[in-house]
Amino acid sequence: MNRTVCTRCVMDTSDEKITFNSVGECSHCQIFDKDSQSMWFPNETGKQKLGKILEQIRKEGEGKEYDCIIGLSGGVDSSYLALKMKDWGLRPLVVHIDVGWNSELAVHNIEQIVKYCGFDLYTDVMDWEEVRDLQVAYLKSGVSNQDVVQDHAIFSSLYHFAVQNGIRYVISGGNMATESVAPHSWHHSAMDSINLRAIHKRFGHKKLQSFKTISFFQYFFYYPFIKKMTTIRPLNYMPYNKKEALEELVRTVGYKEYGRKHGESRFTKFFQNYYLPKKFDYDKRKVHLSSLILSGEITRDCALKELEKPLYDPVELKNDKEYVAKKLKLSVVELDQLIDEPGRSYVEFDNWDRHYALLQKLKNILQKVTNKKIKTYA
Ligand SMILES: [Zn+2]
Repeated sequence: MNRTVCTRCVMDTSDEKITFNSVGECSHCQIFDKDSQSMWFPNETGKQKLGKILEQIRKEGEGKEYDCIIGLSGGVDSSYLALKMKDWGLRPLVVHIDVGWNSELAVHNIEQIVKYCGFDLYTDVMDWEEVRDLQVAYLKSGVSNQDVVQDHAIFSSLYHFAVQNGIRYVISGGNMATESVAPHSWHHSAMDSINLRAIHKRFGHKKLQSFKTISFFQYFFYYPFIKKMTTIRPLNYMPYNKKEALEELVRTVGYKEYGRKHGESRFTKFFQNYYLPKKFDYDKRKVHLSSLILSGEITRDCALKELEKPLYDPVELKNDKEYVAKKLKLSVVELDQLIDEPGRSYVEFDNWDRHYALLQKLKNILQKVTNKKIKTYA
């Protein structure tokens, strides 16, 4: 298929909403240029800003068991961040949410990091039968973001733990350096529990009892305004290079590499490298590589070479497909049939869009009245 490719990154018209300026640079590049001015400080300014934030966290945490919380998936970003948190003298409650797709390597890496840092680890093991039912419902729905189930479970658990332990600082490995590009047309938010419940109601069979969801009200009002919870992304206040971070992890804690992005979850790997390209023609490598180009970690030529490589090794794909099918109690044929069906948009199911539009209106009015900028996310 002939596609128009951005002249600066490697995003292309497989993102239906992409636009290009007169020199062929795409909307993602333009968003990066705009956002990075207010969110990304890989320099002395960032060092000073982060220093102040850390001081505040430590000060507010005095006398408490923990001063912040971090979700550890075993991936490079959160693992590296955990090491830095030890250096910064933070005392986090480390939570790992086991949704059922952990690779053995992820478990090894998490154990090594927590041991080295001397942090308390709480592992929340989800009820697999509920997760399975929900995951199969998502496959049947045919929507593009199949990671909603695990992502929602992870954030929901993390927020609940934070509130339970009186912690208001959530430390996140999210960062502009490696994940600034995020095409909205590819993925609806994992935090939309209205959508999650609608999909489950239509295709699920089991009642969701232990699977905690975060409501629209909780996400946009209760956590940020009542509980005063704040998400801090320290990696945006320092130079962050994934390759160097990985090297430091290997050297310091004997971290073992996964090979592919999100190799810590076997489902995410299968979903990103097979489901998305096959069903929607979305190649998530373009998103990751474009982020790395924009932050200066790799060149565009290097990214283009990377994209020439096959998405999956055939033997690995066969193994992963069998693993996913078996775990979901589907036959490989059933799984293939579900993936072969045409994809659907999340808007075919009830969702938070109308609430969100109303919230934006309300926010604009309030901003005008108070003359203050209001943040509307946790
Ligand atoms: Zn671009």
